[in-house]
Amino acid sequence: MGQNTTLQEQYERLGISEEVFRFGEQVLTELKERFEEIDRIAEYNQLKVVKAMQDAKVSEACLCGTTGYGYNDLGRETLEKVYANVFHTEDALVRPQITCGTHALALALMSNLRPGDELLSPVGKPYDTLEEVIGIRDSRGSLREYGISYRQVDLLPDGSFDYDNIAKALSERTKLVTIQRSKGYQTRPTLSVDRIGELIRFIKERKPDVICMVDNCYGEFVETREPADVGADMVVGSLIKNPGGGLAPIGGYIAGKKECVENAAFRLTSPGLGKEVGASLSALPAFYQGLFLAPTVTAGALKGAVFAANLYERMGFAVVPDSKESRHDIIQAVTFGNPEAVIAFCQGIQAAAPVDSFVTPEPWDMPGYDAQVIMAAGAFVSGSSIELSADGPIKPPYAVYFQGGLTWQHAKLGILKSVQSLVEKGLATVVF
Ligand SMILES: *Cc1c(COP(=O)(O)O)cnc(C)c1O
Repeated sequence: MGQNTTLQEQYERLGISEEVFRFGEQVLTELKERFEEIDRIAEYNQLKVVKAMQDAKVSEACLCGTTGYGYNDLGRETLEKVYANVFHTEDALVRPQITCGTHALALALMSNLRPGDELLSPVGKPYDTLEEVIGIRDSRGSLREYGISYRQVDLLPDGSFDYDNIAKALSERTKLVTIQRSKGYQTRPTLSVDRIGELIRFIKERKPDVICMVDNCYGEFVETREPADVGADMVVGSLIKNPGGGLAPIGGYIAGKKECVENAAFRLTSPGLGKEVGASLSALPAFYQGLFLAPTVTAGALKGAVFAANLYERMGFAVVPDSKESRHDIIQAVTFGNPEAVIAFCQGIQAAAPVDSFVTPEPWDMPGYDAQVIMAAGAFVSGSSIELSADGPIKPPYAVYFQGGLTWQHAKLGILKSVQSLVEKGLATVVF
């Protein structure tokens, strides 16, 4: 094809019909202001990250890794300073040895709780994988096995905090409160940083010494403020989501009060060694550059989520968040009500991938889940969900959870491919 190929023809070459393309373009004309707002937040956060790097005196030498024990690892120590600057915390632990988000959260909990302490979740059930960490579901080495109890206060039916029962649940023994920012794979609304602040204020008024931890997964850089700006003592997340900017190949972070971070370091490596060891190997350039790109990558993913909400709502499906709602994480849920559409959606997303676009995802029995799950992921980093990805449990209400996209343009292609896939199977119709 020559230079005269139009944009629409480029889409056609990727399997998007003229009708689906025009539908997308029409919906986009209404999203100009939303996208401008997302760009302003990205601009603000880009400046925040650059300033954090400059203040920490990031130098060329910081990009060289260490091996072995990793003593005096300048790049690692400086990166941890950068994270502390970005999240406005006293200190941070940012390591390739933290294998994923669940590990980072488990580490933060296990290192800051002691036998006899109680953990409280005032926002309902935590993310699935934390059930075994806490011992809600039995597991080897859970907090419960070590004599750390757990208490949970659910949100009220309208999504608001159940302040009466939170006040009652705070006891002598409550040592740590865990607050999950993102809804994850639930239907409750994601918490804004403002709302997290209100909750922390309420808790600290009653128990000033309690540690307030925020599971920040999927929330980083969606707003201009982060949880420590509203009083969180510890902020925890995964580097293969927002803050890794798609480049980090592994890793997690814990940013927070010096003592909390120190506790986590002593647990990650060893009592006595703490932050002093842990070679960064060759991970540092991707960690720095990924963080540098994270505000704009997050903005691209966010535009994709808003675009998807608007398209699917227009086609008559229930979407959470809806087309107009303000956003506090990058996850978009679409409820289809039938398994065929869930499968078609995920196959459309897969077909847009840069890697493994030719494979057809099928539902499978994933360990730890009570129903089959279908997943679409054609990622450069395996399992990375800041890259364009989707998954759906094959059970009522037959919803898919969609997130990521390293660029807005790629997220757009993925969403159009999902629409195309549904339309071709007669499972949806575009509406002008
Ligand atoms: C992804 C996620 C986790 C767990 O992270 P993994 O890297 O998948 O282990 C925890 N909490 C929330 C809210 C998440 O989105």
